[in-house]
Amino acid sequence: MADFRGINRRQVCFLITFGNFIYRLANKMRQRRGKKDKENVIYFLLVSYALMSINTIYLPKIIYNSLKNPHTQLNSIPNSAVNPLLFNSTNAYNHLSYQLDIGYRVPGTADHDECADWIRSQMLTRTDEVVTHEFSILGIDCKNIFGKINTQKEKIVIFGAHWDSRAVAEKDPDPAKQNDPIPGANDGASGVAVLMEFARVLYQLKGNIDAQIWFLFIDAEDQGKSNGIYGIEGWDWCEGAKEFTENIDDFYDSTSKEIECFILLDMVGGTNLRFIRESWSSSSLHDAIWEIGRALGYTDEFPLNPLWMQIIDDHRYFKHIGIPSIDLIIDFSTGNSEWDHHHKQSDNLSNIDQNSLDVTGKTIEKFIRVYYFDDSSGDGWNDNYPTWVIWIFTISGGITLGLISIKLIHKVKIRKIQELHSTNNHETDLN
Ligand SMILES: [Zn+2]
Repeated sequence: MADFRGINRRQVCFLITFGNFIYRLANKMRQRRGKKDKENVIYFLLVSYALMSINTIYLPKIIYNSLKNPHTQLNSIPNSAVNPLLFNSTNAYNHLSYQLDIGYRVPGTADHDECADWIRSQMLTRTDEVVTHEFSILGIDCKNIFGKINTQKEKIVIFGAHWDSRAVAEKDPDPAKQNDPIPGANDGASGVAVLMEFARVLYQLKGNIDAQIWFLFIDAEDQGKSNGIYGIEGWDWCEGAKEFTENIDDFYDSTSKEIECFILLDMVGGTNLRFIRESWSSSSLHDAIWEIGRALGYTDEFPLNPLWMQIIDDHRYFKHIGIPSIDLIIDFSTGNSEWDHHHKQSDNLSNIDQNSLDVTGKTIEKFIRVYYFDDSSGDGWNDNYPTWVIWIFTISGGITLGLISIKLIHKVKIRKIQELHSTNNHETDLN
């Protein structure tokens, strides 16, 4: 998938440093020309504010969310001896390496078919019902595969991961390897591995779970165009999620049942796991999962001030049809990334950490135990910042920028007139 803008503390520090530089520069100019230095700094701050408000939707979200202070409720939820978490990361790791043994899971290949058969057979042993959703993209056959437990329950929670792997390694430092498929140990196999082990756990616990759970293995996510190179010629990102959400009513009775949320696991098994705040993700869902992860002690993986980024990924199609969604994913692209193997040949077993699978699996298991066990009651999930907050920032940013522009244009005009006057006077003196 492709990524976009992000803002973090490093960037804020840069802005402050830059502001300080402008301040010093303005001071020097004042000494030389007698200008007002404070005015320049104020202009700088106003312009920064205006540009940030207009240019990103993150600033209002960050400010609103920090005022709200979400991390206050669950101080600690220990992994108790009475109710130990059952997620076993050794199983997950074995599922991950098994996919690499199968080969490259590129749509249209025999290895892709073999992996689909494996997912299906595994799901048959750990869910109540397995559904295969077949579709084709530009003539190539694809399959979304999902297992369901507790099919009688009204509330539906979907956990998803893409199971295809990318056909090219366009970011590989070695140009000779850029047209070869990636192993996809993290990008693809890790999410599938966690989901597979997670299904085993929830199947054991299903008598306690007051929801229907779907374990959804999504095809055709990772073949879009990046750095000018298609995974598969003419394909877009997230083709499988698009097909699935367009036909989702075929898979359940929407008059009597409701899909409460969609949780996507993508690149959850790499070394140095650190999740980002993906900006399309629903904030109440994000807060709940962060709270649980941190309470379990995973404070590096779920940092208090995560990097904000916008990622094109399968969750957006679920969000688009009104399902509160979250993408549990890392920063794989900013240059400061803790995991620098995205769409490279090095996305292999040597850059996988079993502990990352453990953290992800245990966090989502605890999430189900806290929010969907018998006695837990939830009001569903939402974006808990109102749209007007964003509009206020955007409009005020626009007005600020407009006023500054008018003021500056005015100043320039006055200066020109003054210059003209002084030239005229000078000429008069000469005469
Ligand atoms: Zn990818």
